[in-house]
Amino acid sequence: MPTFDELVRKRRQFLCECGCMQLATDRHHGLLPNLKRFPMLDCEENIVLVNHWEHDNRRFDNAEWRQKFWDIQCERYGRKHMIDWWNSLPAKLNDRKRQSGIDTGTKQTYNNSQGNEQ
Ligand SMILES: [Zn+2]
Repeated sequence: MPTFDELVRKRRQFLCECGCMQLATDRHHGLLPNLKRFPMLDCEENIVLVNHWEHDNRRFDNAEWRQKFWDIQCERYGRKHMIDWWNSLPAKLNDRKRQSGIDTGTKQTYNNSQGNEQ
């Protein structure tokens, strides 16, 4: 799992990624939540660096911010990479993906029996 320092060294800065210009101090699971059973969500695609106070006050726990962070990650890693990552997640996360409210820009169907998405 990428540490805060590793993420900063990888093309990120010490400023909160929401654009508030405050210092970033926390790793935030920006797209899908931190779930113990799914350690693959602890990856740089899913993590944004944010201000501690905003993080603590759950400012980013809504679909609007998840969408903004999705767009930021697409700009950072490339849209195709992000969609490939999203589609590679286990089918058991399909409910979470739907609940996230994120529009990846592709038509999404969540087929729980097969785990295939198009
Ligand atoms: Zn912020």
